[in-house]
Amino acid sequence: MIQSLKGMPDILPKDIHRWHEVESTLKNLFTLYSYEEIRTPLLESTDLFSRSVGTGTDIVEKEMYTFVDRNGDSISLRPEGTASVVRAYNQHHLGHSASLVRLYYMGPMFRHERPQKGRYRQFFQVGIEALGKSNSEVDAEVINILYDIGLHFKLESPILQINSVGDYVCRTPYQNLLSQFLVTHQEALCETCQKRITTNPMRVFDCKNSTCQEVILAAPLIFDHLCKDCLSHFEILTKQLDLLKIPYVLNKQIVRGLDYYTRTAFEMTAGGLGSQNAVGAGGRYDLLVEQCGGEPTPAVGFALGMERLLLSATNISDHKPIQICILPLQGEYESKASLLAQKLRSELPKDRQISIASLVGTKSIKAGMRQANKMSARYVILLGENEVKNKSATLKNMTTHGQQEIEQTKLVSFILGEIDGK
Ligand code: AMP
Repeated sequence: MIQSLKGMPDILPKDIHRWHEVESTLKNLFTLYSYEEIRTPLLESTDLFSRSVGTGTDIVEKEMYTFVDRNGDSISLRPEGTASVVRAYNQHHLGHSASLVRLYYMGPMFRHERPQKGRYRQFFQVGIEALGKSNSEVDAEVINILYDIGLHFKLESPILQINSVGDYVCRTPYQNLLSQFLVTHQEALCETCQKRITTNPMRVFDCKNSTCQEVILAAPLIFDHLCKDCLSHFEILTKQLDLLKIPYVLNKQIVRGLDYYTRTAFEMTAGGLGSQNAVGAGGRYDLLVEQCGGEPTPAVGFALGMERLLLSATNISDHKPIQICILPLQGEYESKASLLAQKLRSELPKDRQISIASLVGTKSIKAGMRQANKMSARYVILLGENEVKNKSATLKNMTTHGQQEIEQTKLVSFILGEIDGK
């Protein structure tokens, strides 16, 4: 039997209602904050990600699904959403429509990582991006949305950690300082981190190797070397978070695994996830739009892993549709059962999450009822000789087991009344 690829799980019908619930709640939440959805392709030119995420990052160096297509172009499955949103923002001149453009996206991302709980090779991210303003209040708004998500879904012990990773003014002298420090501890570093000393020294903070982690504990931190403007940006942000009553902790070790961040970097961790405990993370990226060929445009955003949100959330209601089954009591009424099902579908409002199925091909009434139970039917509509003669149907309530014969013309209003408890 052919199996799915490692780290690329199926999402089965039994689980999909929780996904739908989260997706629709998030869409409503983003709308509340004036964010509009953008859908970008799953495939982009490889160049987009090497230029934005950064050539020295784990994502670009070892995790991307990259291949040469039939035209000989190098293309990659998107490993994250921000780069594509920025590409689309530039390509379609979205900045012309508003001085602050608020966007959100949802969809699968691909990274060839070692699969474990909460870490997959295909995973779903939802993310938001606010492009156009450098004010700390926008960072606070974006963090507020992440915090609201944590609150709404009652994540297990959520912690919001924030840091500043500086900008081009303070980062270069700091990186030199960090490289000098790392050179003196070179022997203790893993092979990859030894290379990072010259290519991308801040990546050493993300290394999982225990000796590298020991070294980095004593390393100078960017937060302690911020320039005046970055520090002031951070202070205004924390004041705003205080005013919004959003609890946070300063974690000077956060550098994030992507190169494009400037100033604010943040993560929300939660319980119930094991070692992969970051539910959502993001930051400011003031240089990226320009780096990708657009006008200088400051921006900030975050991405959140849906699988991790679903693992850590404690209050997702499982809104399954209301199932109604139509059971022909004799084989000769199967066609009539299908026609009645179609009549109900055409008359029922389309926004009510009601499912109608006609149970054709069942061997006996008992087998039909068993089938209806398996489908968790709330009502079964029985169609036998009497009902056909009377142009009626017998509606059986599977919870109370009560049943009633109703004229077919009145069936829809009767069912809606029952469902709504009128
Ligand atoms: P990143 O794009 O790496 O900043 O990740 C943002 C969020 O996406 C993380 O906090 C996770 O919730 C989620 N995420 C990242 N990588 C994976 C993965 N391989 N599997 C599942 N979720 C992931």
